[in-house]
Amino acid sequence: MSSKLIYFNKVTPALKKILESNDSRGMQIFYWHEIPEGERKNVLKEADYFLVATEKITKEMLQSAPKLKMVQKTGVGVDNIDIKTAKELGIPVCKTPGANAISVAELTIGMILSLYRKLNLLDKATKNGQWLMWEHRLTSYEVYGKTHGFIGFGKIGKETAKRSKALGTKIIYYDKIRADEEFENSLDAKYMELDEVLKNADIVSLHVPLLPETEGLIGKRELSLMKPTAILINVSRGKIVDENALAEALANNVIAGAGIDAWSSEPVERDNPLLAFDNVVATPHIGAGTKDALNRVLSMAFQNIALVEKGKTPMYVVN
Ligand code: NAD
Repeated sequence: MSSKLIYFNKVTPALKKILESNDSRGMQIFYWHEIPEGERKNVLKEADYFLVATEKITKEMLQSAPKLKMVQKTGVGVDNIDIKTAKELGIPVCKTPGANAISVAELTIGMILSLYRKLNLLDKATKNGQWLMWEHRLTSYEVYGKTHGFIGFGKIGKETAKRSKALGTKIIYYDKIRADEEFENSLDAKYMELDEVLKNADIVSLHVPLLPETEGLIGKRELSLMKPTAILINVSRGKIVDENALAEALANNVIAGAGIDAWSSEPVERDNPLLAFDNVVATPHIGAGTKDALNRVLSMAFQNIALVEKGKTPMYVVN
């Protein structure tokens, strides 16, 4: 009998096709949002695998799945999964490291260029019949020659740094673990303490995971250290930034702009003050949202599940 897998995020017919084409073992796949409420308990009871992107995997779900062999995240940020309960139950939680790093890196660069050249504002204005050919020149910039500061220099931080360097920036970074010398040398990247990165960077981008110690990492004090011309890009997790402090900083010209893909509450609330700013580029958590990344992530996820099917230990276990 084939194994049973539940996929927890919403799917479109096209996404189902990609998902199923990566399942070389012909598993029975259940789509959480298509299972009637009343039947979910029974499906959980029989599930061998959970496959999840961003939906919450709670203690109750894990406790209701006695046959569960593994929770496979399609991505790297595992803050939506109750890892502690999974560990207590002896269920490995696995991620797909690096598989979506290029997509997130490209979005980061896109947000920087958009803010530096006011693309979101000028796109809207041009379509509305305004011709702002000269109005924004003195507050638009080249990326070339600027200092890009990284907070978190793991897979996404490094992929972003390579692309930023190619545009002519100077790379500085903070991470709790220093990168190896060879990588630092390849980009002439300088390691600094967090406050020094904030003080020296023209562009600050966030690439740390959401953990108890990174929640609220960027608040009023940290924003006040940044240059008034600097921009902040959050493509990591919303709660790493104090959003109210950021809105206040933008309103008072403490910093010059922000690119935000990850929000403290998702979908972002309509009255979130950050949505009101022209100098905020807002996206709906699409850092990893490309077909290319999806294919890479799903291929890696199903290969990992296949290991467990063969009785082997899975890779990239986080608990
Ligand atoms: P990674 O594990 O390769 O890198 C994370 C880095 O953060 C590591 O170098 C680690 O040492 C560092 N770090 C961890 N805790 C720290 C701390 N307290 N202080 C300083 N540094 C610390 O992960 P990654 O693939 O680069 O992804 C980073 C994060 O990006 C993920 O955890 C996730 O939250 C987010 N992400 C967002 C999207 C999106 O769609 N926007 C997609 C993928 C990942």
